[in-house]
Amino acid sequence: MRKHAEKSKIIRSSPALQKISKKMLAQGKSIGLVPTMGALHKGHVSLIEKSVKSNDVTIVSIFVNPVQFGANEDFAKYPRRLLADAKLCGEAGASIVFAPEPKDMYPLPLQTFVHNPALENLYCGAYRPGHFAGVLSVVAKLFNIAMPCKAYFGEKDFQQLHLIRRMACDLNFSVKIIGARTIREKNGLAMSSRNEYLSTEERAAAGSIYAGLLAAKKLHGQGEVSAAKLKSAVKERIERASGKIQYVEIVNKNDLMPVGTKVLRNAVVLVACYFGKTRLIDHVEL
Ligand code: AMP
Repeated sequence: MRKHAEKSKIIRSSPALQKISKKMLAQGKSIGLVPTMGALHKGHVSLIEKSVKSNDVTIVSIFVNPVQFGANEDFAKYPRRLLADAKLCGEAGASIVFAPEPKDMYPLPLQTFVHNPALENLYCGAYRPGHFAGVLSVVAKLFNIAMPCKAYFGEKDFQQLHLIRRMACDLNFSVKIIGARTIREKNGLAMSSRNEYLSTEERAAAGSIYAGLLAAKKLHGQGEVSAAKLKSAVKERIERASGKIQYVEIVNKNDLMPVGTKVLRNAVVLVACYFGKTRLIDHVEL
């Protein structure tokens, strides 16, 4: 992080950002975009720093997108702290923070959505109806508003990253999608804004998610190809730590389709589980 950072400029309105982006592109500047929901942590900062390294201008969007939350989800309680986030963005070298209110992003209720019927109802999508259509739609809007040359997303949200790559390809967005590795706590827990909901005990116990994934990876490395046994290795560790499994799936890395009973190459284990009331996700490549 930079010691004597420039402050990031906070922009609230979409037309204002679009105007700035057009001007910067006309000046030949490259724009990197890091879409977030705020409550920034080191995972987000790693994306911002990656963008700062290879673009003239980095825009961080901070928007808790109502359209991607289900009725019983945590939209209302999701942590919001714009000023502290903007300070972190400045320290990481971002020039602009785009922080619209829902009424600015959606002056009219959204009627036009981006869907991926093949994938949006699988894995996380099976438990969060409408979530991925909400994500894809807001990311498409952000691409049109910020007009980035490159956009940065975490591998942590593995299904999301895949869907965004596929949207950019299918719909010819002229933006390069860059994936970045997952930043973790010392105990292996993937950093997430939602980790703030965890009690100290839950946070410690949630280290079992990555431990379970690594156990499956080790077994696979030792020659175990049974999908059932690999999934059990993950489940066992999480359940032993009092976590509740929502799903464990083993999928093909390239198309996200479920592998059969045998796990050979290019496979990824996806997991979603609860510690207390907090839903956490993670994955590992085998
Ligand atoms: P969010 O604010 O949770 O919507 O995340 C914004 C972006 O940061 C997404 O592309 C996430 O995948 C990414 N991200 C979240 N947590 C991490 C992490 N621990 N390591 C790397 N990237 C992350």
